[in-house]
Amino acid sequence: TQTTHKNFKGVEKTVYGRGSFSQLDEILAPRRADNEGYFVFLVDNYFKGKPLEGQVPAHAEDLTYYISVEEHEPTTDQIDRLRDEILSKKGLPSGVVGIGGGSIMDIAKALSLMLTNEGSSTLYQGLNLIKKPGVYHVGVPTISGTGAEVSMTAVLTGPVKKLGLKCEWTVFNQIVLDPDLIASVPRNWWFYTGMDTYIHCIESENGRMNNAYSHAYAEQAMKLCREVYLGENSGQTAENDDKLMVASMMGGLSLTYSEVGVCHALSYGLSKILGTRHCYANCLIMNHLADYYPQGVAEFKEMVAYHQIDLPKGLSKEWSDDTITQMAHVSYNLPHMWLHAIGDNWQEVITIDLLKDLFRRL
Ligand code: NAD
Ligand code: ZN
Repeated sequence: TQTTHKNFKGVEKTVYGRGSFSQLDEILAPRRADNEGYFVFLVDNYFKGKPLEGQVPAHAEDLTYYISVEEHEPTTDQIDRLRDEILSKKGLPSGVVGIGGGSIMDIAKALSLMLTNEGSSTLYQGLNLIKKPGVYHVGVPTISGTGAEVSMTAVLTGPVKKLGLKCEWTVFNQIVLDPDLIASVPRNWWFYTGMDTYIHCIESENGRMNNAYSHAYAEQAMKLCREVYLGENSGQTAENDDKLMVASMMGGLSLTYSEVGVCHALSYGLSKILGTRHCYANCLIMNHLADYYPQGVAEFKEMVAYHQIDLPKGLSKEWSDDTITQMAHVSYNLPHMWLHAIGDNWQEVITIDLLKDLFRRL
């Protein structure tokens, strides 16, 4: 018989609370004797020279890398080089700790797996292609919304595909959710990345994979998003940061047990062809999806207006027909999203021409 219900592994341990980052040293202590007896810390370069740099619990034997995520999203080449350098310097580490946004979460997850799996990470882009468990890995998110802290994929851009290393071993062994860490997020990123959660919920809810389990997470995450992004108490306050961190996790869990939809399918096309950042791409697209998600898009627009976020229009005027065709093909090749959003007959409804028309709305 065919498996019809998702059977997912979750994060093993979660600590949540303001100041919980200070517990990290204690959390890592029991693992320090494993393998060659040292940890690798991957920290978003934003924190170089900031107070957090002094709070990273790196010991003398540990390796710490400050990684810039500004120029591009994580690549297969970047992971392979990092892995080779670490193994040749000190051998197999006790574990990997990622401190940063979705990009650093994905780098930490991918590195953990590639430290024990031979060859290039391009070989493992896809579902269940990884052969061996990775090393112990810990995620410490510093920007909330992607749900990468709880997801079972590490999205990498390779020469051919933008696709995750997706398997049970990708999931973090431990996450540390400290809302203090997201206080410094610039306002535009706070908005775009937070909207990724909101969009995860709208898409998870509106499709055939939705069920009572994914719905419960989505409903709660959307309630939290409304408190954070709409109404008199909205904005980047400590109380809202507490909520957004939980919303990100729940939005991620909602889509894990359901599926994303039209916005993410188009977003992958845009990101793959033009390199547009995931959360920003979603916002650009969501603006034009009222046909598919009328209520969700109306509320999204309210949030955009409330925070006076400038989402450019007329972008597609600069794109050639060839570029738009390429985007449409990337989007079309995500059947699991279309099956969820549209149904069994999706190929009758969604055509390359229709997708091209959607991209021309941007
Ligand atoms: P990001 O990690 O790309 O960071 C965005 C910006 O915020 C960067 O400039 C970074 O330096 C800065 N930043 C991060 N924390 C900060 C802080 N506390 N203060 C000030 N600046 C800070 O952002 P993101 O939106 O969280 O992640 C996007 C990435 O996540 C993409 O690469 C996407 O592919 C990936 N993603 C992964 C999953 C998954 O399930 N694995 C899901 C969605 C997206
Ligand atoms: Zn997303």
